[in-house]
Amino acid sequence: MARIGFIGVGNMGGPMSANLSKAQHQVRAFDLSPEAVAAAEAAGATAAPTVAEAVKDAEIVVTMLPAGAHVREVYMGENGIFANAPKGTLFIDSSTIDVATSREVAAAAEEAGFAMLDAPVSGGTGGAEGGTLTFMVGGDADAFERGAKAFDAMGKTIVHCGSAGAGQAVKACNNMMLAISMIGVAEGFNLADALGIDRQIVYNVCSTATASSWALNTYCPVPGPAPASPANRDYQAGFTADMMLKDLRLAQDAAQKAGVSTPLGSEAQALFALFSNMGSGAKDFSGIIEMLRGKV
Ligand code: NAD
Repeated sequence: MARIGFIGVGNMGGPMSANLSKAQHQVRAFDLSPEAVAAAEAAGATAAPTVAEAVKDAEIVVTMLPAGAHVREVYMGENGIFANAPKGTLFIDSSTIDVATSREVAAAAEEAGFAMLDAPVSGGTGGAEGGTLTFMVGGDADAFERGAKAFDAMGKTIVHCGSAGAGQAVKACNNMMLAISMIGVAEGFNLADALGIDRQIVYNVCSTATASSWALNTYCPVPGPAPASPANRDYQAGFTADMMLKDLRLAQDAAQKAGVSTPLGSEAQALFALFSNMGSGAKDFSGIIEMLRGKV
């Protein structure tokens, strides 16, 4: 059982904090949204009125915030975590942010006498609720060991990916691969439709042939073949197109800084930006098949 400060109890952080409480950890939750804090409180946390109160005697601090700017401010700002957590506290940032900011905040944490891990997640709100998230973790091995009790309460697959920023790097690579493969699967189904081939036949063959992928087999972008996929509920998210766009931008940012050519990642970003600008950013990302078909 550990004392854990949790900052950012929104769609993901809320259920993650609830799972920490369920595992008998003492959670103090803070969020700018009073509704979010009230929900965390109802799920077993103690409400904290400020960041300072949430972290003041914490052994571990978990953050689940929208983007890099929020993470920098909440950790390094005047009344932030660095200024108020006891020395030696372990910080776990599970927000999905750019690799450069993640490394910058981790280096500043170390200099100020703290250990820090970047630990973005995959698995969405369902995974957060079920405690089955995948954590991709960057940081040193000792810190990774210390974080185990928190990770175990929130996730199922916990992978140490390397030094600071490595978790964010793996997350950006994964989501860039996923976006590209989803667009490929969508184009395949659109072509099959135009050629008059039954979608279930396409699915039966391709999901067991060389085109097999998570985007096709599990998250199939046409209704029918994979009954649990968002295509069966009019592309209600799931994982929104705007979230995918954010992650593609992070991947492109990292690729540009590293001088790597990712032409399909760049094209995927452009297509998701178009889909979002057409008013579909809140739809599930697999709904991009409709735009590619000229339907949106
Ligand atoms: P969300 O907007 O529901 O939650 C973020 C919370 O942070 C909000 O409640 C907001 O009030 C709070 N917040 C913002 N600034 C703050 C500050 N300065 N101090 C305290 N609280 C502050 O977003 P979410 O869906 O929970 O996503 C959080 C992170 O998880 C993002 O980085 C996102 O990319 C990542 N992620 C989301 C999903 C998903 O399916 N929703 C999946 C994987 C990863």
